[in-house]
Amino acid sequence: MLETQYTLDTQTGQIAPAVDAAAVRAQDKAHVMHTYARLPVTFVRGQGARLWDAEGREYLDFLAGIAVNGVGHCHPALVKAIQEQAATLIHTSNLYHTAPQALLAQKLAEISDFSRVFFCNSGAEANEAAIKIARKHGKQVGGDSKYHLITAQNSFHGRTLATVTATGQPKYQAPFTPLVPGFSHVPFNDIEALEAAVTEDTCAVMLEPIRGEGGVYLAHRPYLEAARRICDKVGALLIFDEVQTGVGRTGKWWAYQHYDVVPDMMTLAKSLGGGVPIGACLARGAATETLVPGDHGSTFAGSPLAASAALAVLQTIESEHLLANAHAMGEYFIHRLGEPALRGKIKDIRGMGLMVGVTLTTPDAKRVQAEALERGLIINAIGDDILRFLPPLIITQSDIDQAMTVLLAVL
Ligand SMILES: *Cc1c(COP(=O)(O)O)cnc(C)c1O
Repeated sequence: MLETQYTLDTQTGQIAPAVDAAAVRAQDKAHVMHTYARLPVTFVRGQGARLWDAEGREYLDFLAGIAVNGVGHCHPALVKAIQEQAATLIHTSNLYHTAPQALLAQKLAEISDFSRVFFCNSGAEANEAAIKIARKHGKQVGGDSKYHLITAQNSFHGRTLATVTATGQPKYQAPFTPLVPGFSHVPFNDIEALEAAVTEDTCAVMLEPIRGEGGVYLAHRPYLEAARRICDKVGALLIFDEVQTGVGRTGKWWAYQHYDVVPDMMTLAKSLGGGVPIGACLARGAATETLVPGDHGSTFAGSPLAASAALAVLQTIESEHLLANAHAMGEYFIHRLGEPALRGKIKDIRGMGLMVGVTLTTPDAKRVQAEALERGLIINAIGDDILRFLPPLIITQSDIDQAMTVLLAVL
């Protein structure tokens, strides 16, 4: 058993439970399934762009819980919304109306090109909903054979059986075959390959505007424009998976706004609830009418608690001008990564707003991630040679300078 002791943080005056990191690790090792190769840190507290571990060490967070803590850790407006909603009404099920869910749906419609939403609890579930809508819509407009879905190689769409099938990475699929029928994968940014793959039997094309887990690779504008045109030609739906790129990450509310290509459906999760699980599948046009009562559902989805958290996140992004900040800080960060001192170390810099990736000249990403962590900077290694940066949208220029000092030292 963990014994709860309390310590006084002399800097903040807060009383916090003392956590025995070694005991936590031992319990985790014994009783949690080993699906994560966890890094050797136990976090106990967060504020803004900073986290503290059980030994009281401070970290600058350039990963934000994998693009989840968009407004930073424990933002006062988010904490207040959660606390007040938790004391009022947490959950009712979707058999009844609740105000926060209706308000959130209206807000999402106001700030996007989509008129209706299906709420769920994660990115995989948002994509699962989009896939089900695409299949039903396909059968309605094109008959029983119109169920084929096309996604990109090296994409990432989630871990449920349908979304891991959509995910174009065999390493995530191999243990779980047979997969769901009707999916195929095309090389990203290759218009000809997409044109060749889409047929009258295609019900949808699903793409990430920026491949996140796949290493931060941006779609080219002509590619997404062509995807729109190719889908329209055969009556297939275009789905953008904005689970990682959405909610301000790229400096606009949604990445599709950078491309002036509006899909039929857009999926969201990650930062939508600022850390409270919530996902969403947004639709416009015919796709808004496809599902009818009984077709699909979720017990928890869009609960008053999760919806209130999401509303607070969206309001904070507006009131603190975080879209503009994400854009400006993204430009500054990319500018600093281009410094002459890093030229021999970094082969390629990619990004949009605060979604940034670099490819190293050496297969050093895991070492750099570990050494940065030791020096109090949280970043993410993808494969052998890619570093991914997803700082919270509240990040400041001096935070970036502090991160650069660490990166310059470890690179
Ligand atoms: C993280 C992610 C998902 C899966 O989201 P979960 O909430 O982990 O199910 C799907 N698509 C993209 C683009 C993601 O980045």
